[in-house]
Amino acid sequence: MDLHEFQSKQLLASFGVSVPEGTNVKSVEEAVAAYKHMGDQGCVIKAQVLTGGRGKAGGVKLVNSVEELEMEARGLLGKRLVTYQTTKEGLPVNQILVERLTNIEKELYLAFLVDRSSQAIKLMVSTEGGVDIESVAQETPDKIHTITIDQKVEAYQARSLGFKLGFDVQMVRKFSALVFKLYDAFIQSDMNMLEINPLVVTKEGELICLDAKVNIDDNALFRHSDIAQLRDVTQEDAKEVEASKFDLSYIALDGEIGCMVNGAGLAMATMDMIKVCGGSPANFLDVGGTATEERVTEAFKIIGSDENVKVIFVNIFGGIVRCDLIADGIINAIKTTGLEKPLVVRLVGNQASLGNEKLRESGYEILAVEDFKAAATKSVKLMREA
Ligand code: GDP
Ligand code: MN
Repeated sequence: MDLHEFQSKQLLASFGVSVPEGTNVKSVEEAVAAYKHMGDQGCVIKAQVLTGGRGKAGGVKLVNSVEELEMEARGLLGKRLVTYQTTKEGLPVNQILVERLTNIEKELYLAFLVDRSSQAIKLMVSTEGGVDIESVAQETPDKIHTITIDQKVEAYQARSLGFKLGFDVQMVRKFSALVFKLYDAFIQSDMNMLEINPLVVTKEGELICLDAKVNIDDNALFRHSDIAQLRDVTQEDAKEVEASKFDLSYIALDGEIGCMVNGAGLAMATMDMIKVCGGSPANFLDVGGTATEERVTEAFKIIGSDENVKVIFVNIFGGIVRCDLIADGIINAIKTTGLEKPLVVRLVGNQASLGNEKLRESGYEILAVEDFKAAATKSVKLMREA
């Protein structure tokens, strides 16, 4: 689960990490009040959307007066922000962070992440903060310094990174103290990722986290009910949220063939096969190994409500699950939601012939195709005709 910047900063602050003073607000009036409360001395306002690249996309604004603040806050709140990391629809800006200005001397980069290949947590730093780290990694990889952590960050490791960032002895001490606090926050909150970009050295010689991006391990959320309740579903795809209520693994994609498949492996294979046949999937949807009639019905509704979907392709392998029950689910779903799009169904395995018979006898226009490639080819052909 991703946290908003203001949530990440509050979490880090609770571990003693320095972040700018600020207030998260949901209206222009609240923004003005927060601004005046900080002494009417100029501030920065930041759109709270779960994506990166906000600065370049106009989601971070420096203002110098209450009039400017009102104008910029009005320009952000209630709008959608499109960045290079979002879809072309962007994400809704429902809240903004009003923050005291920081006197920036230098912008650095710092991140903790889980490195699968070494099965360890890594700490990465760079003098090239504020810009996107992917291009630093590509163009000047020697400017990124990494340590691999074994149990805890050792003092010598923190010091060596501090010196690589060009700090003097006094600053290295401050840097090490910050690293220990951040690592503490990372471990205790079960984070997958903690990215501070930029980590700022102020003109006063302090280290402040000007931005913070946190991802919490979903599998550990049961241990952190306070964090779990921070989830902001307005930042997620509405269909994905609906799907998660029924334990369906659903991920929206930008193609035109809606897929309903059981098992993640078969779902991946189905998407590949659609691509091989010249089409493109509108989603990844795994109804699970134990697909029930109810879940099939819900899955069908979710796919059917997607305007991009031109054709629906159901690909079910009956192992534990019986294909005749899947057929019932499909027929029931059509009864409640109607069938406005061409539907190709491939049922194989447990009770497949009974399932196919039910589909044929339903009276609906359902194309039952038994061969995988033939079914995918048919779906792509129907997509082109639609
Ligand atoms: P991102 O673009 O989504 O990563 O948003 P950031 O929070 O990293 O902000 C982008 C940039 O805005 C930073 O790299 C800074 O250069 C600038 N910025 C943010 N807050 C302040 C501030 O308080 N003072 C100044 N001068 N610049 C700021
Ligand atoms: Mn940033």
